[in-house]
Amino acid sequence: MIFKEALLIKYGEISLRGDNRRLHEKRLLRIIRRRLSRFEGLRVTRENGRFYVESDAEDFDYESVMPVVFKVLGIVGICPCLMTDERGIGDICETALFHMNRAYTGKPFTFKVKTRRANKSYPMRSQEISAAVGEYILNGMEMSKVDVHNPDVTLCVEIRNHIYVYADTVKSLGGLPYGSSGRGMLLLSGGIDSPVAGFLMAKRGVDVTAVYFHSPPYTSERAKEKVTDLAKALSAYTGYFKLYVVPFTDTQLCLYKQVQPEKLTLLLKRAMLRIAEILAEKEKCHCLITGDSVGQVASQTTQSLAAVETAVTMPILRPLAGMDKQEIIELARKIETYDISIRPYEDCCTIFVAEHPETKPKKAAVEAAERHAQGLEEAIAEAVAGAEIIEAEA
Ligand code: ATP
Ligand code: MG
Repeated sequence: MIFKEALLIKYGEISLRGDNRRLHEKRLLRIIRRRLSRFEGLRVTRENGRFYVESDAEDFDYESVMPVVFKVLGIVGICPCLMTDERGIGDICETALFHMNRAYTGKPFTFKVKTRRANKSYPMRSQEISAAVGEYILNGMEMSKVDVHNPDVTLCVEIRNHIYVYADTVKSLGGLPYGSSGRGMLLLSGGIDSPVAGFLMAKRGVDVTAVYFHSPPYTSERAKEKVTDLAKALSAYTGYFKLYVVPFTDTQLCLYKQVQPEKLTLLLKRAMLRIAEILAEKEKCHCLITGDSVGQVASQTTQSLAAVETAVTMPILRPLAGMDKQEIIELARKIETYDISIRPYEDCCTIFVAEHPETKPKKAAVEAAERHAQGLEEAIAEAVAGAEIIEAEA
């Protein structure tokens, strides 16, 4: 065989960024290598703004490898390709024909050939190569037709240290390499929203650690299991994922006994944020992340968000702020957290929820209620001290 199967990986935004570019590329390469280390005999290399995965084996196990690469953030496209070291134009034509035959035999299609000659020492020019390959395919495949304006398939030929031929790009998630934009602490409940919020920030390069507030016996062991499973699901994108499980019952009861019911949710949120901030500092995070979506419930009106926000000094990122529930659900499905999130469980906030929570709370009144709650500081300190760590790694 003059060629072998490989995978070509295209990355997006990082190629645009001047100074950070090299660092980002290195980081992404390291992440891909680590994620693929579970497979034997795979080599990942970088060449001119692309990564290539080669296999020692005769056949490339696309079925197992593609889904793993697909979940690496910062990649925009993945292309199964054929690579060859035979540099004669005849060999390139034959490689291209083989590749097209595998995917398009038996059905009519239009195509064009696009050649990139990164290695300028190659004796033919890009257009000459495209013309030669195009003609070879036209002659070799009865149902093929050239259409340079609106082809069904664009066959790409890349002349580099090796030569690569590919036709289909599987669009992947995009974003920035994980960990290239600092660190954040995600408030991860078992709901639909917060895992999506965590994913979106991870996609912008934020290294995410999470905290879940657990209130036994009001929330069950199954609720905790569910959040652990969500952490696992997110680790498919982030690699390693750390989850703090904070015992929240005492803090919750402390507030429940002392504050007006219509302010309870807001005060619970403030307590969660305060605990999250302490853990965030410990984890050297620069921000907090929540799944709030403006207007979704009483505690997510802009007035409520404002009344909650002053509990902490760290910025709170709310990537779902402007999204509709339906959009959030679609994304949750796409990242495979939805089925976990909809398992039945009790939310610690819904058990302690008031019939008529305030929708336009006054910040000063909420803060005053918090100041008057006796034993709150101690409860918060104990909650932090009692946090359990759960780790997941994809
Ligand atoms: P979600 O679907 O993420 O649970 P939600 O629509 O149920 O969100 P709320 O219960 O008001 O809305 O929670 C808003 C945000 O507060 C959540 O997205 C999450 O970031 C945080 N949060 C709420 N409850 C918890 C909890 N028990 N542990 C950790 N974070 C929580
Ligand atoms: Mg919730």
